[in-house]
Amino acid sequence: MEKANWEKLIETLIKEGVLQTPAVLKAIRATPRSSFVPVGAQSYAASDTPVQIGFGQAVSEPRIVAVMNEALQLGLGCKVLEVGAGSGWHAATMAEIVASQEAPRSEWGHIYTVEVIHALAETARRNIMNAGYGDRITIVNGDGSKGYPAKAPYDRIVVTAAAPQIPKPLVDQLKSGGVMLIPVGSPFLFQHLIKLTKQSDGKIVEENLGAVSFVPLTGALGHKL
Ligand code: SAM
Repeated sequence: MEKANWEKLIETLIKEGVLQTPAVLKAIRATPRSSFVPVGAQSYAASDTPVQIGFGQAVSEPRIVAVMNEALQLGLGCKVLEVGAGSGWHAATMAEIVASQEAPRSEWGHIYTVEVIHALAETARRNIMNAGYGDRITIVNGDGSKGYPAKAPYDRIVVTAAAPQIPKPLVDQLKSGGVMLIPVGSPFLFQHLIKLTKQSDGKIVEENLGAVSFVPLTGALGHKL
């Protein structure tokens, strides 16, 4: 039943043109959200809604994760920084692409995901281990508003909480040719998803992908709540 509901949601996202490329489709199909949401919220795992994961935080709806993964143009071997691990689900969907088990390990990329709330970082770590992504995703507990310089530079950066403006350290940690996605705007749900591309000459190109609703980015370069 659970598998059937997940497939139904995927079919809807394909029909609506949200899921577009075979790699993103395959990754979302292979990563049902049920392994990443709390036991008491299992009935919502295959719905296209955010699901509460505690501490006032939520795992995003599948639609927005699909949109972000399409816009990120992920490929095998990419080194990705995610700011806002939450449940670990979005990270797992990206790991399916950058470190596909169908490819030799030597070609794998890696996901580094930073979570500011200690208990959520522990939950994400547990979910990721249980779902079999332990060797493809590293969870870091800390403030990701300044990125994670220890493993920079990154091919891709995805921020899953809304920032007041684009933090410069994140731009600095993006490789030449890299892509970053970040919701920018008010802390209370009115934001735009910005796609930033760092060209090979270092020039930054920004594109507004439309209105989104994310929880606020906290920390040194986040919203002061
Ligand atoms: N990607 C997550 C998933 O798959 O479940 C959902 C992310 S949730 C929408 C946003 C997350 O960003 C929350 O877990 C929140 O605690 C985290 N967050 C907010 N500010 C942060 C910061 N400065 N550094 C790291 N994480 C942060």
